[in-house]
Amino acid sequence: MTIDKVDAVILEKLVDIPGVPGREECVADFIHSSLSSSCDCSLDNLGNLTVHIPGKGKRVMVVAHMDEVGLIVQRILPEGFLKVERLGGTSLRALPGSRLSLWSSKGCIPAVAGVLPQHLDNIEPISDFSKIYIDIASSSAEETRKMGVKPGDVLTWDSPLRFVGESLMCGKALDDRLGCYILMKLAKMLQPGELNCDLYLTFTVQEETMLMGGAPAVNSIEPEVIIGIDGTLAFDTPDLAGKQSDIRLGAGPAVKWMDAIRGKMAAFVPNQKLTNLVCETAQQNRIPLQDEIATGMSTAITPLVFCSKGARACALSVPIRYHHTPAETADVRDVENMVLLLRNLLMTDL
Ligand SMILES: [Zn+2]
Repeated sequence: MTIDKVDAVILEKLVDIPGVPGREECVADFIHSSLSSSCDCSLDNLGNLTVHIPGKGKRVMVVAHMDEVGLIVQRILPEGFLKVERLGGTSLRALPGSRLSLWSSKGCIPAVAGVLPQHLDNIEPISDFSKIYIDIASSSAEETRKMGVKPGDVLTWDSPLRFVGESLMCGKALDDRLGCYILMKLAKMLQPGELNCDLYLTFTVQEETMLMGGAPAVNSIEPEVIIGIDGTLAFDTPDLAGKQSDIRLGAGPAVKWMDAIRGKMAAFVPNQKLTNLVCETAQQNRIPLQDEIATGMSTAITPLVFCSKGARACALSVPIRYHHTPAETADVRDVENMVLLLRNLLMTDL
């Protein structure tokens, strides 16, 4: 199985669209327009997009988030540079020297995050966030304003998707546009009545800032089961080998047993029976599956299980290297295996 197996054009477009938390409309529009016109789609007031595939059985919701990490313009400096704040957990390590896209009222402006020349490395250690500034090739605040830039405009990484080697892809926003892609594939492939459940595929908002943007959708659908689809940390690089877990690219999707951000009151422990069913389904269909027990991260599923009347929940993850940087890297085979696993799972009695 190689890159030919994925719909590369759809993936490239889906990843390229800017969609920071609270500004996901373009992503939702693209997903909506890519699905069949006969699809039963609805959008709620917060921007969550849901595709309903009716069937007999429990109300099951599968969720993936549309938003990506980014930056928001805070101040325009007299020399034309911009000071910014982070929208979500944008990697500080990856920022200095990176190319960005600034989305102003006049369109997209190429930008770069300033970085100290290597020759002056001895002046100060690696930046803290307060030292970050954005260069948009303007020489005054007035010129910057004339370019249409104002506080509240947002920036995303300028990093189009690239397919590399036999089966890898690299770019921005794989977290969690790969989840969105997986849901889009399911929406295209599953037929009403074919399933053992009444299925809702929901593309949610505001995960990277709040985790809980999908709450209104859960409250209105009142699912009995929720399945979360998101990225997880891969530990298959030289700096991380042997730490925390053995999750690696290409070894299959991961099934979550726990995640937590210590000290942030964000933690998820899935329903055990449901998670066992995921493992059995993978085994029966010879789909590779990795075990995920992750600290330092949490996903949308964490608050969503407490919405409405509560739901039994499990979560599946696509392993991704270099999370929240412009070089997020994942394996096409894990994405395809996730689609296969979910398709089989939705045929079982959840
Ligand atoms: Zn995510």
